[in-house]
Amino acid sequence: MGVEETAENAEKPPEKKTKKRQILDDLIDAISFTRDIVKQVIPLSDLQILRSFLRWGTPSLIRNLDTRGGTRPVLGHHFVFPPEIFLGYDMSLLAMEVIPYFMSALISFGAEEQYDEMHAYGIPFHTCSAQKGHLGLSYEGRLDLDVVVAPSSPCDNGVGAYQYYSQMANIPLIVTDVPMYQNERAYQYFAKELDAMIRQVGEIIKQDYDFEKVKAAVQNTNESIMLIREINTLRKHVPNPIESMFNPLLIGSQFFMTGQPERPQFYQEVIDIGKRRIKHNDYPGKEDKIRSIWPYMPIFFDFGFCEWMDRQLGIEIILDIFGYYMFDPIEDQSYDGIMRGLSEWSINFPMMRQSVRLAEDYIDDYVRLAKEFKADCAIFTVHIGCKQLISLTQVLREALKDECGIPLLMLDIDVGDKRFVPTNVLKQKMIEFKKTLF
Ligand code: SF4
Repeated sequence: MGVEETAENAEKPPEKKTKKRQILDDLIDAISFTRDIVKQVIPLSDLQILRSFLRWGTPSLIRNLDTRGGTRPVLGHHFVFPPEIFLGYDMSLLAMEVIPYFMSALISFGAEEQYDEMHAYGIPFHTCSAQKGHLGLSYEGRLDLDVVVAPSSPCDNGVGAYQYYSQMANIPLIVTDVPMYQNERAYQYFAKELDAMIRQVGEIIKQDYDFEKVKAAVQNTNESIMLIREINTLRKHVPNPIESMFNPLLIGSQFFMTGQPERPQFYQEVIDIGKRRIKHNDYPGKEDKIRSIWPYMPIFFDFGFCEWMDRQLGIEIILDIFGYYMFDPIEDQSYDGIMRGLSEWSINFPMMRQSVRLAEDYIDDYVRLAKEFKADCAIFTVHIGCKQLISLTQVLREALKDECGIPLLMLDIDVGDKRFVPTNVLKQKMIEFKKTLF
């Protein structure tokens, strides 16, 4: 009897461990599979930046998500927190809003099942798919977290969604108070909030905070910021040597490669590819492309869409809302200096920066970026869930027309749910829009 029980137990790990690992393992499998497919099927000269991302990003992502058989704590965090701050603990980190979009990019049906489950549960269809996706995973028991951290901003969707964890899922939830302003007083205030947050996390997971690891991660990000600036200089070049697909990959690298040695390696390789293309006058897709900036998110559910834009349509994505860091490297490496710096990064992180403050800051940013990046047009993926940014589209359209003389196309879609508007309809809209330019 004893022998039989032992054999059976050896094949069946405890339920909690299996649950905790499931979505993390699915993500690891999805990126490993994509890397193998690209390696084996796509010619070496094609999709160079995707190839580079998969080469450097896959080990980083696996290292981050590995729960070591369910023994490593898993922290779910809102995407506006800089992941560096959590690296003082040994945890798997999940940027909650990124998971459903990551799924929609790499898995056939993305997080559609989770969206449907949440609608059936009572969450309105007109809420953000970034939030509905992680809620659905938790609801169906595939996201077994040890602790969740959230800010009190930037949007109603996030504030509403995170209450689920403490009220329904019975997971400790820590909420930080976000100031409305972006000034020194606000950065100091929020630094104290971040400090209190990480202390509470430590108490929950029963670990000591290793500040040296955070410091190393911040230095890694400082280096990455300088490299992103160099990439942005290349993207100002006409023609742009960096393909549109770099935009969603940059988002992936921000969340899954932070503090990892592979992150600067990836950016350096992008720079090398870009410089080589300029030198040899060898650009991806059509050479004379129309330059578009996307003041909101790119499309996640179909990566091929970026390639179609570059190669077939001849409109390229120069940058999107996540493509331009509105902050500087952190110079003061003391504990207080780093907390203050991380606070500034968080308050100015894309979407936090644009959604908490007054509308003119958002408008100013994109008028400036449209000029700086020599944009011919802007394309806004209007997402029904994001009320605060949608409310600005018409004002932004008028500002871009008046200040830069460029049109703004509003694409009414959900970037994480392909059922909202099928890709062929989307492509037709883009073709029609192109006819209206010049
Ligand atoms: S700011 Fe908009 S897109 Fe971002 S999480 Fe909130 S509702 Fe979703």
